[in-house]
Amino acid sequence: MIAGDSHYYRGLRKKLIEELRRKGITDERVLQALYRVPRHLFLDNAFAEWAYKDVAFGIEEGQTISQPYTVAFQTSLLDIQPGDRVLEIGTGSGYQAAVLAELGARVYSIERIEKLYEQSTQRLKELGYYTIMTFLGDGFKGLPDYAPFDKILITAAAPEIPQTLVDQLKPCGYLVAPLGKGSVQKMVRLFKDERGNIHREDFGTFRFVPMLPGIKKKAPS
Ligand code: SAH
Repeated sequence: MIAGDSHYYRGLRKKLIEELRRKGITDERVLQALYRVPRHLFLDNAFAEWAYKDVAFGIEEGQTISQPYTVAFQTSLLDIQPGDRVLEIGTGSGYQAAVLAELGARVYSIERIEKLYEQSTQRLKELGYYTIMTFLGDGFKGLPDYAPFDKILITAAAPEIPQTLVDQLKPCGYLVAPLGKGSVQKMVRLFKDERGNIHREDFGTFRFVPMLPGIKKKAPS
């Protein structure tokens, strides 16, 4: 067991998993991955009790760790296979990246806020997620040096799907993103077929913080 985890928190996770099952998450591999990740260690210590409620929660810099249901839903849509190269836009706390890694994905995750990038990078190392690669950068640009990816996941509200990211997706790959400019977004999944044609499916509505351009550096101390 990871330092900082305990039977108590495992018990809470078990209950959370049951709740997600009741809410319609059926992919057992995804549920087991959420069971394995100690979500309370991705929140400030003072809020550990909140970690296993199915709610989004504020982290620093006005950003959020997504609601467990949302993480489970987006992860299910990606149909992660072991060894998949997955690009995540919006590392935030690092929680979603850890869930993807638990499914055997090779995760490349970009965050635009330097402070969050540094915190999540350190946290993921401390928790033993050594294979997750984190980057400080602008997700609108993707990671051309590491492309193409089997799967791409955007965890901030995208005004539209950046063509740059579609270009970095492999044929037969999925891109999942909350799409829309308003306060609620539609969950969208794009499939790039073998010929490179794009097929779109729409799912329910969700609320995400906006995807913003450029990098936000730390204030000099
Ligand atoms: N996946 C995160 C939740 C992300 S909240 C988790 O599991 O905790 C959305 C994150 O996307 C925020 O941290 C925000 O700073 C980041 N973000 C917004 N626009 C971005 C962009 N263009 N590139 C990279 N990260 C971005």
